[in-house]
Amino acid sequence: MRPFTSTISLDEARRRLDAAVRPIARAERVRLEDAAGRVCAADVTSPLDVPPFARSAMDGYAVVASDTAGATASTPARLRQLDRIYTGHMSSAVIERGTCAEIATGAPLPAGADAVVMVEETRKTGDEIEILAAATAGQHIGRRGADIAMGDRVIASGDLLSPGRVGAIAAIGSADVAVFAKPRVAILSTGNEVIEPGSALAPGQIFDVNRFTLGAIVSAHGGIAEPHRAAQDTVAALIEALDACATADLIVFSGGSSVGERDLVVDAIAARGEMIFHGIAVRPGKPTAFAQLRNASGGTPFFGMPGNPTSCLSNAYILLAPFLRALARLPLHTPRIIRAPLGRRIASAVSRHQFYTVRLRDGVAFPAFKGSGDITSLSQADGYIEIPADQGGVEEGAPVDVTLF
Ligand code: AMP
Ligand code: MG
Repeated sequence: MRPFTSTISLDEARRRLDAAVRPIARAERVRLEDAAGRVCAADVTSPLDVPPFARSAMDGYAVVASDTAGATASTPARLRQLDRIYTGHMSSAVIERGTCAEIATGAPLPAGADAVVMVEETRKTGDEIEILAAATAGQHIGRRGADIAMGDRVIASGDLLSPGRVGAIAAIGSADVAVFAKPRVAILSTGNEVIEPGSALAPGQIFDVNRFTLGAIVSAHGGIAEPHRAAQDTVAALIEALDACATADLIVFSGGSSVGERDLVVDAIAARGEMIFHGIAVRPGKPTAFAQLRNASGGTPFFGMPGNPTSCLSNAYILLAPFLRALARLPLHTPRIIRAPLGRRIASAVSRHQFYTVRLRDGVAFPAFKGSGDITSLSQADGYIEIPADQGGVEEGAPVDVTLF
């Protein structure tokens, strides 16, 4: 056995991760259909005015505003209709004194008109249109370029493409946009006992859980999960596995990172890179490692997650997801936190910062943590509470902040 010589605090682990992250520089073009949620990789400048022409903002009548001065329902202005203008249609009519054109919302304003009177303020009598209220110049008109002027920066590099920003890119006529590539994340489970779900268990074997929980976290936080075949517990097999993952932007192994004699990830790292930390004062998830692997392109960050499924997933939420988001240039994820009374006392004898899963029932938080090896500690939980290292436990009924998954 090779015990941890020391652990570092969660804060220190976070500091080292922040210092190690190199946001992705690769960019690609994606179609607008696929752009939402991506991070823009270059400023987007408008080549045109939006709207490209002055248009009506109402269904009504395009008029010369001064024709309608003093108009009321009892003393309407009377105008002769020259045309009926639909959207997508340029009218050749010229609106002069005493005339108007019926116009639809979004249709181009005809020459001469300087206001639109909405249909509710008009009356049709025979050949004449009665205007029942005075219009001011410019009323109900969308000026050319009022939304976006030619040359305006519509999106800045680094902006997260929200639905509204995708819409702005569409409005200026672009069918695609440059975005930062999603980091490719190699995911690999280690352990002689670990086999793929879907196959039959031989004695002593278990199904791989971590590959799937890690893959789900990676996909949810802007990465592309690239699963690899599980590796056996030999240093040679692990080095070979590291090499097989070498082209990824981030490598995540699980298992083999604790202190058992078969926990050889540490030795494999020594052969291919530099350990940044190994051992964090958290529970679950103490045997988590982070390293930088040497390679042609400089270095690849490496997470060695614990094999225990709950420890692995817990630290994937707490450490891996924020790191990946920074790598992907995504904004910080702010999970929802709700306050609830604790339904049953939790004892916490450990001197480690504890993440304790809870289940919410009728607004009360009940402990859901079974053991680090039990995936139901998470599958039956709605979120977790944090118990600082110096706190002995939490009493029943005490208010707790539940971070929802
Ligand atoms: P290790 O970190 O390799 O010492 O593994 C700790 C525990 O987690 C052992 O009970 C392993 O069998 C289990 N374990 C390791 N990897 C996985 C995995 N990918 N899926 C489910 N359980 C695992
Ligand atoms: Mg193992």
